[in-house]
Amino acid sequence: MTMTSVSLKDYHPFPPLQEQYPVEFMEKRKVIKLHTRKDGSIIIGLGIPDDELLKEELQDFHHSQCEFVKIDNDELAAYLSKELSRQNEHEYNTKDSTSVIQLDKLANDAPIVNLVNNLFIEAIRSNASDIHIEGSSDTTTVRYRIDGMLSYVSKLPSGQFPAISSRIKIMANLNIMERRLPQDGRISLHLGGIDLDMRISIVPIAGGESIVLRLFNEKDTLTSLDQLGFSKKDLSTLKELYSLNNGLILFTGPTGSGKTTSLNAIIRKLDAVSSKIITIEDPVENRIPGVSQIQTNEEIGLSFHSLLRRVLRQDPNIIMIGEIRDSETAQLAVRAALTGHLVLSSLHTNDAVSTINRLRNMGTEPYLLGAVLKGAVAQRLVRKLCPECKKIRYPSPGEKKLFKEHGIESGKIYEASGCSVCGNKGYKGRTAVYEIMTVDLKLEKMIADNAQADIISDHLKKTGRINIISSGLRKVVDGETSLAELERVL
Ligand SMILES: [Zn+2]
Repeated sequence: MTMTSVSLKDYHPFPPLQEQYPVEFMEKRKVIKLHTRKDGSIIIGLGIPDDELLKEELQDFHHSQCEFVKIDNDELAAYLSKELSRQNEHEYNTKDSTSVIQLDKLANDAPIVNLVNNLFIEAIRSNASDIHIEGSSDTTTVRYRIDGMLSYVSKLPSGQFPAISSRIKIMANLNIMERRLPQDGRISLHLGGIDLDMRISIVPIAGGESIVLRLFNEKDTLTSLDQLGFSKKDLSTLKELYSLNNGLILFTGPTGSGKTTSLNAIIRKLDAVSSKIITIEDPVENRIPGVSQIQTNEEIGLSFHSLLRRVLRQDPNIIMIGEIRDSETAQLAVRAALTGHLVLSSLHTNDAVSTINRLRNMGTEPYLLGAVLKGAVAQRLVRKLCPECKKIRYPSPGEKKLFKEHGIESGKIYEASGCSVCGNKGYKGRTAVYEIMTVDLKLEKMIADNAQADIISDHLKKTGRINIISSGLRKVVDGETSLAELERVL
């Protein structure tokens, strides 16, 4: 069947910009939306009339009658170059698989571009770690995760969701026509002097899509160890640990406890000039100058352990493994630590002592573990009380007793209130509560002798070294957080 040939001139003006396909898509696939008829059917111009795949994709995308006509490629190119030069001031570049977009310069573009940019800007402004956008047939819901808690931002009219979703897919170089399969991507933005990296996950849900953007803000407030809330004394303990030439150091805690942030903060402190530092991460969150950062990719066989095997041939001094999840990784990590490398990693356990049992259960020989394990830090993130509105109160007799049990004198403590500074939440920012287990000769021997966990716990308690609850209670007495928040997290 031959296709009618038309001239673009016959269809001026084209549908408004927010209804048009994205310029990059039009250029790559040689396609333009020419006209939408009153009955909803669409006339689409094709530069490559026999691109059956494209026709299928468009049919699928529009859910309405599509009529395809042939257009002249040169005519389309001329129109697009005019359109692109207009958009050029936006500096929309594509580098590798990430788009570097000058967000602030995009401010005067189509309403959707504005809307999406504003969502990003507002997220950065409120220090959000994630943006959740869920679109269904009825509404588009936008929420931010701030200090670990999801909060509602706005409900947008349903008609806008496809455009918002497409806009985000374009920014992440994803297939905008795909709405039935999950997609993952990344966006890099430069915004008012801040480099912002976002990891994107899009999953189809009934009636729409769920889009989650994880923000990796270079200016993240929680990037250094002291900002994370470690005391001076504990900072020097940590320094002794990460200054070792070899051994294994672990950070533990549930998801969202800030393990990765701590690991990254330590890597930043290390001398990347005189030592070769390699990290294996899932995903690479923040890029660190001088450090070779490798992203895992299970789909193509790049798991933690397969990468670790290769990394060992790269003559590294320090290796950071995002997380030890299986026995293969555990054993490789121990072997690496035994053969003169400093290995930093994280484990999913509740406290520092449990790292010993977990690694034993993953098949690590006790005598090897005793030889390599130098320290374990268990941590949680608690929200900090807003300094503007926190309220004084006095602990109840029961609470006083709790403080006393942990050897802490409690006078007045504080609780959350709410004001305009903290968005009526009563909390602003987060700090770590933690325990640091350092392995001395006695403990090393206990681990090597396969001592029971409770015997090890008793030993540690006797030497008074570790207790995550005491660390939290101390922060309550110091007015940094509240008992209620501590209870929520621990
Ligand atoms: Zn406040």
